[in-house]
Amino acid sequence: MHNHYVGRFAPSPSGKLHFGSLVTAVASYLDAKSHNGKWLVRMEDIDEPRCIAGVDKDILAALEAHGLCWDDEVIYQSQQHARYQAVLDDLIEQHRAYFCTCTRRQIKAMDGMYNGHCRDKHIAPCDAVNCAVRLKMDDQLEAFIDVIMDNVEPDTSLPHTARAEDVVLKRRDGLFSYNLVVILDDVFQQVNHVIRGCDLIDVTPLQRAVYQTLGFTPPTYGHVPVAAVAPGRKLSKQNRAAPIDNTTALDNIVRVMNFLGFAFPNASEFDGVDSALNHAISMWDRKKVVKTAEIIVPQHESTYYSGPL
Ligand code: GLU
Ligand code: ZN
Repeated sequence: MHNHYVGRFAPSPSGKLHFGSLVTAVASYLDAKSHNGKWLVRMEDIDEPRCIAGVDKDILAALEAHGLCWDDEVIYQSQQHARYQAVLDDLIEQHRAYFCTCTRRQIKAMDGMYNGHCRDKHIAPCDAVNCAVRLKMDDQLEAFIDVIMDNVEPDTSLPHTARAEDVVLKRRDGLFSYNLVVILDDVFQQVNHVIRGCDLIDVTPLQRAVYQTLGFTPPTYGHVPVAAVAPGRKLSKQNRAAPIDNTTALDNIVRVMNFLGFAFPNASEFDGVDSALNHAISMWDRKKVVKTAEIIVPQHESTYYSGPL
């Protein structure tokens, strides 16, 4: 169906689902379901060295235990390389992308922001060993309306977001970049609504510019608060985020709703996750989500933490 809502949750299987990732899963699910949309799950295992075997299954089991049933097949980025490479080859052939030999050190000497040094060097594919591939960006970074956080201006204090630099599509080490694959997959899966954590809000103007440069329409974005252990440090595997306990799924959903700013009934009001989720769908209102980029969660609680730091 044309113009139909398609949303998604796109976890990286580098660690089990924790409270912060459950918040994003629930928010994206509720936004999709309250719009009669599809909700897809995509495993972002492009950075394979960081992924742990079996974690994908754990994440899917946790989603199921919380009543978060996805539509269609789960796609894995690690199985999409041929599709990504075909796009890259086309872009190179059309001179819309090019090889770049610059090292990290050289880029640092450019004040930390790549200045287009290799744009017109016409490095041939056969000479492209140890090269990155960059996209010729012709769009400026622009403000956009976030359906949760309202107006978002490009953050000019960050060198990489001050203006659209020629983004890396494939890294020197041969890995496709996150900024390429997240966009190619969202386009491929016809995702038109992206509800995700505020940790990605700063990169959104750049991603929107990549969409435009590639000739695609950017999706609608909404960013929800991230759970943090301290200012600027989101809850993550690195700081011992506790894996979500599936045996307390109903309590976890209630906690997520409170975290997002909803006055949600107690767990005892529901007979299971499904009735809690149905209530949450009927209650969901983008305008009611707290407009804070991060919320500090108590360090001593086992819901968030698996042990002392
Ligand atoms: N895979 C990314 C993450 O786990 C999310 C990407 C996105 O939602 O656009 O942080
Ligand atoms: Zn270069």
